[in-house]
Amino acid sequence: MVCERSDIFASACAISRAFPVFSRRSLASRRTEKKRVTVEFMIVGADSSPLEPNELECLSNAADGVRLAARIVDTPCNEMNTDHFLDEIKAVGAELGITPVIIRGEELKHKGFGGIYGVGKAAEHPPALAVLSHTPEGATQTIAWVGKGIVYDTGGLSIKGKTTMPGMKRDCGGAAAVLGAFKATIKRGFKDNLHAVFCLAENSVGPTATRPDDIHTLYSGKTVEINNTDAEGRLVLADGVVYACKDLSADIILDMATLTGAQGISTGKYHAAVMTNSNQWEAACVRAGRSSGDLAHPLVYCPEMHFSEFTSAMADMKNSVADRENAQSSCAGLFIASHLGFDWSGVWVHIDIASPVHAGERATGFGVALLLALFGQASDDSILNQVSPLGAASSSAPGEAMERDCKRRRLV
Ligand SMILES: [Zn+2]
Repeated sequence: MVCERSDIFASACAISRAFPVFSRRSLASRRTEKKRVTVEFMIVGADSSPLEPNELECLSNAADGVRLAARIVDTPCNEMNTDHFLDEIKAVGAELGITPVIIRGEELKHKGFGGIYGVGKAAEHPPALAVLSHTPEGATQTIAWVGKGIVYDTGGLSIKGKTTMPGMKRDCGGAAAVLGAFKATIKRGFKDNLHAVFCLAENSVGPTATRPDDIHTLYSGKTVEINNTDAEGRLVLADGVVYACKDLSADIILDMATLTGAQGISTGKYHAAVMTNSNQWEAACVRAGRSSGDLAHPLVYCPEMHFSEFTSAMADMKNSVADRENAQSSCAGLFIASHLGFDWSGVWVHIDIASPVHAGERATGFGVALLLALFGQASDDSILNQVSPLGAASSSAPGEAMERDCKRRRLV
């Protein structure tokens, strides 16, 4: 790879997408596949000094994170069910010395996670909420990444058609990206509290499946009348973000999801759709997209005009919009935010990656590079500082700490 120093991170992540891990071709045809790929960087431009070992390690960690996410997304649900996804989370935890918190099956129901439980209860493998937590000394803020991990989406009783269901193994792309990014970013050193929250369920069909008309109470305490069982991602994420707020006291909550087919209509195949209650974070997401190669573009955020799409006569809201031609991807995001409350004082960021999660038949590992760059300011790593929208966190005098913390909380 010949590139300028400022492009090494995006270039390394791009190369890692070109060499996928998952294959179930029989051994005879796999023998011809390359086992090992060596990538050489030649730096050109003003600063063309060779890369330091720790810089190479950062690129290697980022590439591993991208490929881990892509492998999980490529793996079909007869292998990557909720049990196996939990095994992947435990394996990352074991490598980092973190034991995940796991709430599963009937326990979800008893603790009030009506969204995750309602979506996953008809599947053979029970749904789960899993959390990996990094809580270093001296942290000044608490960040939570919440990933949608629908390991397969049949649509539930509002079942998808024979042409729209294939590919739905990829509906765990948000959770896979959160896992890949968490592994890479903690390995590089992360100064703030960081929680990775995984909302895992298989949206299946069976006698115990949620029906249209059923009303579920979500972890927020709000009631939801189900009018479309295929709008399930927002239900599991609503529980996930409220857990991040209530139980983890997060100041900044980012959810990442393959949420809506309409995302491709809104921002296309290459740009994720970003929606947030903060102008600064909206701009930061776009800049992080450009510096990481995981491009992003804003969606309309207008709860006062759009949230009425979910009006229900029976419950606090329905789960799917009345008019599918009225900013559908934005409305789906608003559903999630409404469970935090539109007056919640923290920063909420929603990233819909439904289209860029794959390119043709293959997963892209989309989202890993974006998260690494977006939160690069809190990293100990120099490359991640460079690709961060605001550079490295300043180490100002103790007297300025309060001002700095307030500024950071609002600005990244
Ligand atoms: Zn669905």
